[in-house]
Formats: sequence, C-alpha cells, structure tokens
Amino acid sequence: MAQSVDEKIGTGVRDSPGRSDRPRLYKDVTNEEWKLSTEEFLKFPLDPSSENYIRKVPNAIFSPVLPMPLGGKTVLAVVSPSALDLLDLDPIVAESPRFVDLVSGSWVHPGSTPLAHRYGGHQFGWWVDQLGDGRAHLLGHYINRHGVWWEVQLKGSGLTPYSRRGDGRAVIRSSVREFLAAEAMHALGVRTSRCASLVVGEELVMRDQFYSGHPKLERTAVVSRLAQSWFRFGSFEILARKGEIDNLRLLVDHIITKHYPDLDPEPSDRPLVLLSAAVEQTAEMIAQWQAVGFAHGVMNTDNMSVLSVTIDYGPFGFLETYNPKFIPNSSDDEGRYSYRNQPSVGYENLRMFADALRPLLTQSQLAQIKIILKRYDSAFREAYLRLFTEKLGLQTQKEDDEKLVSSLLDIMKESNADFTMTFWELGNVSLADLAAMELPKNYWTLNRMVKNEKFSRFLNAYESRIKEEGRIDEERMKTASASNPKYVLRNWIAQQVIEDAEKRDFRALEVALRVLQNPYRTHSEAESRGWAKPSPSWASKLRVSCSS
Ligand code: AMP
Ligand code: MG
Repeated sequence: MAQSVDEKIGTGVRDSPGRSDRPRLYKDVTNEEWKLSTEEFLKFPLDPSSENYIRKVPNAIFSPVLPMPLGGKTVLAVVSPSALDLLDLDPIVAESPRFVDLVSGSWVHPGSTPLAHRYGGHQFGWWVDQLGDGRAHLLGHYINRHGVWWEVQLKGSGLTPYSRRGDGRAVIRSSVREFLAAEAMHALGVRTSRCASLVVGEELVMRDQFYSGHPKLERTAVVSRLAQSWFRFGSFEILARKGEIDNLRLLVDHIITKHYPDLDPEPSDRPLVLLSAAVEQTAEMIAQWQAVGFAHGVMNTDNMSVLSVTIDYGPFGFLETYNPKFIPNSSDDEGRYSYRNQPSVGYENLRMFADALRPLLTQSQLAQIKIILKRYDSAFREAYLRLFTEKLGLQTQKEDDEKLVSSLLDIMKESNADFTMTFWELGNVSLADLAAMELPKNYWTLNRMVKNEKFSRFLNAYESRIKEEGRIDEERMKTASASNPKYVLRNWIAQQVIEDAEKRDFRALEVALRVLQNPYRTHSEAESRGWAKPSPSWASKLRVSCSS
C-alpha cells in the first residue's frame, strides 16, 4: 500500500538500513533535529531599527527583516536533490507543505531571525556605497552530518532596508537561470554557491528586460540558495569606508574561525591569512570559469564571495562559438567583464578587498599586501594550465603546454568552433581517426576545425605530447572525457526552459537539471532536444541584461 504523504514526510527520522556511512536523512524541516539558526549572526552589530523601510543603515552588519511571502498561488517548481542533501534533507521533502512554506518565505523556522546583510561594493570600477541584500534574506546556517556549515538564503523574498529603488522581487527567467547555473557549475567542478529550490508565484512585477523603454509585467519566483558564506568583498569594503573598524575586525575573525579553523592564525595575522586564501581561491575559481567557458557578466566587488565561490548569477553566459571577447551582459558596453578580462578583473577585485583590510594592518603588514597579491598571477596560471591540460587528456603539465593550448584556442577562434563541443569531441575520438580525418559525421565542431591549415601542426604536437606521457590513446580519451562536458547551460536552452516555466510547465526544467547535474555523459532526453547540436537560428537574437 502506498504511504500517505504525511507518513512519508512525518516528523520522524528515517534510518538508512544497512549503510552506517549514510546517516539518517531528516525528512522535514519541522523535525526537532533539523536546526536552522541565525544565532551566530545575531552576535554581530545589528540595525537598531526593526522597521522595514529603505534607508542607509550605519554601524551594522545585518538588519533583521522578515521575508514577504509571494502573492497568489505558489508552486514549488523544482528542487535539487543534491543541494538538499547538503542540508540532510531527502528530496521527498518537496512534498511537505512546511518545506514549501519555508523556501517561499511564508514560514519562518523557529531558530531563525531572518536577516538582510549590509554590504557595499565597486560596480564597474566605481565605489557605490551601500548596496546590501535588497531582495534576499539569510535564514540561517545549518551544520550537516559531515559537520559542514551551510548558509541558507532566499532570493526574491521581498523588500528590505537595502532594496534601494527595487521591489524586492526576482522574475522567473532570472531565477531559473540562477537555479540551473549554480547546479550546473557545481557538476562541472567549479567553486560555486548552490540552489536547493525554486518556487514560482503569481505576483507580477514590471521589468524592462532590455532597457528599451518597453517594460512588461512578469511573474516572480523565490530561489533558496546555499553557500558556506554569503559575505562578499563588499561586506568588508563598506566597513572600511565608513570607519567601522571594530565591525571589520569582527567579520574577519568570524570568517577565519568559522571557515578556516585549521589555519588558526594569531588574531593580528588573520586579515592577511584571509587575503592569502582569497588570492589562491579566487585564482582557482576564475581558472575554473575559463576552463568551462563561463563568463560571469557582473564581476563587481559586491558579487565576489569572500570564500571565492561563484555567487549572484545574473547576466552570465557560457561561450558557444569561441570568442575570447565574449560579453554575456548586453548592458556591459565596454566589455569590462568579457570572458578574456575575467582573470585581470579578479586581480583588481582582490586589490580592492586588500584595501578594505588595510585599517586592520600594521605598517610592516601593509608591506606584505603586495607580496600576497603577487601570488595571484602564478596561482591563476598554474590552475589554468592544469585544467586545460586535463581537458586535453594529459596527466602532467609542461611549460610548453601553454603553447599547445593556445594553438588549439587559436584554431578554434579562426574556425568559429564551439568551445564546449571542441573539447568534448576531441575527448571522444581517437587520435588515429582524427589524423585520418575519419570523424563521425555528427562531430559538427571538429569536422569544421580539421579544415583549418594549422590543425595538422596542432595535431602533430598533441600526438607527440601524448606519446611522451607513455599512455595509450584510450587513457587520454578517458582523462579528457572526465573533464569535458557535453552539455552546458547555453542561453537558448535556458530560454526554452524559461518559456515553459512561465507557463507553469516545469518538465524541461527537471530535464535540464538532470542533464546539467551529470553533463559528461550522453542523455537521450538532451539529445532529442538537440542540446549538443548547433544552436537554432533564433538563438543568435537572445540577449541577457542585468534586469532580473
Ligand atoms: P545584482 O545586480 O543582482 O547583484 O544586485 C545589485 C544590488 O541591487 C543588490 O544590492 C541587490 O540586492 C539589489 N537589487 C537588484 N534587484 C533588486 C530588486 N528587484 N529589488 C531590490 N533590490 C534589488
Ligand atoms: Mg549581487
């Protein structure tokens, strides 16, 4: 007999029979042992006013403010089982009304005082002062069965003191994009925040999607998202700028003690230890972006996580035809945040983060900033080379490999080759077949590239490099296949999913999530939708902007 939803959800705890390494998965957020808490954040200086109106908030890190439930009938569109697992939740929790209430902002967990965070930032190179969570609420942290700290946030959950001119909401298109991108990037091995759920409402907001003077009403959504920390470079910058040095020190101490407990530096060394970690990890994250062909679109310091994970997915894009000048954000006229600029912007942003830490440093420590920042370049290059040689199926890295990689990229550029498919096809064809030009007909990228006059030179260099490693070609293909996805979240794929989601048909969303969470193998449901084929002609007209 089928269990009722209540029985399945219950408030009890299910033991996983026979697997001691897989502890109990709690089934509902109302379970006494499932603790979401803001306690640790309430220790910070808080906004003394609890009224929810838009204002400048001095001397505070958070403002307590309740989410505003989405108006109209809300529907849970999708959950990410693997993100829920980080919270020890079984996907069946999606059937629990309490869970839906929690992630749509209409029920507050007993341990939680929802908070909006005050931060600032440099946007497109300019200091813009207070920004803050204008449509996001931190619901608390959860420590999972592995002892890992995750912070749960809602986005699109209503007005806060930081809403500035906004309405506190997020539209379906931007929410679907953030949900799928975060989960896809995680599957690609990129440092990223996660998304656990997407709730769609009936409330309408006005958006001028292309800033063309043609605003339209759009439906709204709330995403629940997870990161080990939601603090940003801008969280520190605002405190330094406003001379709130005690708060700045508190925040540095918090990050070090909660997120780098093993480093355990002397309190006076904490700011520099934090900067060092950010330098190493930001270099790694941006090298990962380059390796999967991801362009963030808005690398302002308010969108740069202090733990160097990708956050605030907005007008991002994945490279299709390889073009290093690719600008995903149609509002970024100068291409400040183009694909090829990301490594240098990462450095500039770290420099601004370092500036924010200066008030905590002694004279002799100040001199070390330069040395720490200098590490960025080599950290980035090491990571970049490691990732791209893996994409070529190599096991080791040699200095000359940089040339090998750039010669391939050069051919890709000249042949207008698709970034993702070039690497996927290379990893799925033997070098013998490639040399004999015996390619499967449907290898639409390599079939074009082999015609380039430089290709045979690349192939010779590639073959001798593989030989040098003393591995057989199958081993090369195995390494390459494990690093090269067949599917990425192309704008036109997102668009198809969005159009259906706006009509409350979430089947394509489910399929996209399944495919993108496991993008290295072939999926028949993706093949039948043409997701690894050349883009349809209408795709070239798609634009994404900051409007969200
Ligand atoms: P973003 O470009 O999404 O990183 O947002 C930049 C700033 O604008 C952040 O402080 C956001 O919270 C705020 N913001 C963006 N959209 C809205 C909105 N619809 N309502 C309120 N605040 C918003
Ligand atoms: Mg942002």
